[in-house]
Amino acid sequence: MGGPAAPDSSWKGSLHVSYNIGPGFAGNSSTRKVRMHVHTDNKITRIYNVIGVLRGAVEPDRYIILGGHRDAWVFGGIDPTTGAAVLQEVVRSFGKMKMEGWRPKRTIIFASWDAEEFGLLGSTEWAEENARVLQERAVAYINSDSSIEGNYTLRVDCTPLLYKLVYNVTKEILSPDEGYENKSLYETWKCSHSDVVFSICRINKLGSGSDFEAYFQRLGIASGRVRYTKNRVTDKFSNYPVYHTVYETFELVEKFYDPTFKKQLTIAQLRGKLVYELADSQVIPFDCRDYGEALKEYSNRIYKLAKKHEEQLKLYKVSFDPLFSAVVNFSKAADEFHRRLEQVDKKDPLTVRIMNDQLMFIERAFIDPLGLPGRKFYRHVIFAPSSHNKYAAESFPGIYDALFDIESKADQREAWEEVKRQISIAAFTVQAAAGTLKEVA
Ligand SMILES: [Zn+2]
Repeated sequence: MGGPAAPDSSWKGSLHVSYNIGPGFAGNSSTRKVRMHVHTDNKITRIYNVIGVLRGAVEPDRYIILGGHRDAWVFGGIDPTTGAAVLQEVVRSFGKMKMEGWRPKRTIIFASWDAEEFGLLGSTEWAEENARVLQERAVAYINSDSSIEGNYTLRVDCTPLLYKLVYNVTKEILSPDEGYENKSLYETWKCSHSDVVFSICRINKLGSGSDFEAYFQRLGIASGRVRYTKNRVTDKFSNYPVYHTVYETFELVEKFYDPTFKKQLTIAQLRGKLVYELADSQVIPFDCRDYGEALKEYSNRIYKLAKKHEEQLKLYKVSFDPLFSAVVNFSKAADEFHRRLEQVDKKDPLTVRIMNDQLMFIERAFIDPLGLPGRKFYRHVIFAPSSHNKYAAESFPGIYDALFDIESKADQREAWEEVKRQISIAAFTVQAAAGTLKEVA
C-alpha cells in the first residue's frame, strides 16, 4: 500500500487500523471541516440462516457445529468469503465421504449465518431459538469466518480444552508457506515474541466480534477459530487495512493475499479436521488439564494486577486465596479425571459416554446464569470480550472489570466489596466446575 503521506496524529484519531490519508491533507489539517452525507436504510427485513445436518451414526444426540457468516459489508472479498468458501468446501468434502457410505459418530451441524455484520444477528437468533437443545447436546462450535487476515502465519483462538487437539492436528497438515513445502503447519507456525510457551506457540483467548459469541460466551459451548494472520509483532493493529471497506475484493485476495489459494486450503483442512476429530473420535478430544494450567495462569495474572493496590487489599481484607484454592482443586480433579479416562474400558459404551458427557459439560460449568455485571448475555466466568475492545478477550472479566480504574471510584469501600464479590463468584464457579470432573459415584 505505502501511501505517500503519513497523516498527523491529530487528524488520524485513534482508529485501530493502519491507514494513510493524503497527500492533500498534510499540514495544519486539524482545522479542516468535512461535510459528510450519510444515507442509511432503516427497514425491517428477512434474514436467512442455512443449516445442514449430517446425522451421527452412534451418538446422533451429540452435536459438533461448524458455522460462519455469508453476509458482507460490501463485496466481502476477505470477510467473510474466504471463510464462507472454506465452510462450503468442508461441507462438500464431508458430503463426498457420506456418498461413499461414511457417517460420523456424532451429528455435524453446518451453519451459514446471515446478518453477522449487523451485530451477529443470524447466529445469535439460532442460538437463542435452540438454546435448550444446544446446552444439553452441543459438544463444540468451530467458527468459519474469514480464513485469512494476512499471509504470514497461523493464528488460533480457542478454549483451553482444544489446545491439544489443535497442536496434534496442525502436525498432520502440510504448511502452505513458500519454501516449506515438506514441513507441517505446526512446524512453520510462527509465534510473536510474547506468545511462546515452552517453545510452542501460544493459543489466544476467545474474545468476540464473530458468530461464536453466543455459543461460547453465552451458552458455554467449547469453541475455537483458526485463520492465517499477519505478523502481529510488527503490525499491532487489530485488523487488516481494508477491513470492511469497498476495497475488500476477490482481486485483492487473488493478487496479494493468497494467489495460490493455498492458505485458504490449509485453513479448510484445519477447520475440517477439527470438526472430523470432534465428531468421530470415540473419546471427545478435549484435554481438561490444559484448562487447569490456563486457570492457574489467569488467576496469577489477575492477582498481580490487584497487588498494585497492596494497601487497599489489606485495608479492605481482600483475599485471592479462595480462588487459588479452587484452581488447585480444579487441576487435581482434571489430573485424576484424565488418569481415569486413559484407563476407561473402551468396549463399554456407557462408561465412555459418561466420561464424554463430563468432558462436554466442562465448558458449560463455567457459565454463571446471572451473567457478568451490566452485561447479562456474557455469562462465561473465565472469558469475556474485553469491556474496552469487543474483539479482544479478558480472563476473569468480572474481577478485571471491578479492578479497572478502581482508584478513581468515589466509594472505595463499595468498590473493593465488588472486587470481593467477583472473587467469590470466580472461586465458586471454578470449584463447582472441579466437582463435575470427579468420579460420578
Ligand atoms: Zn466476518
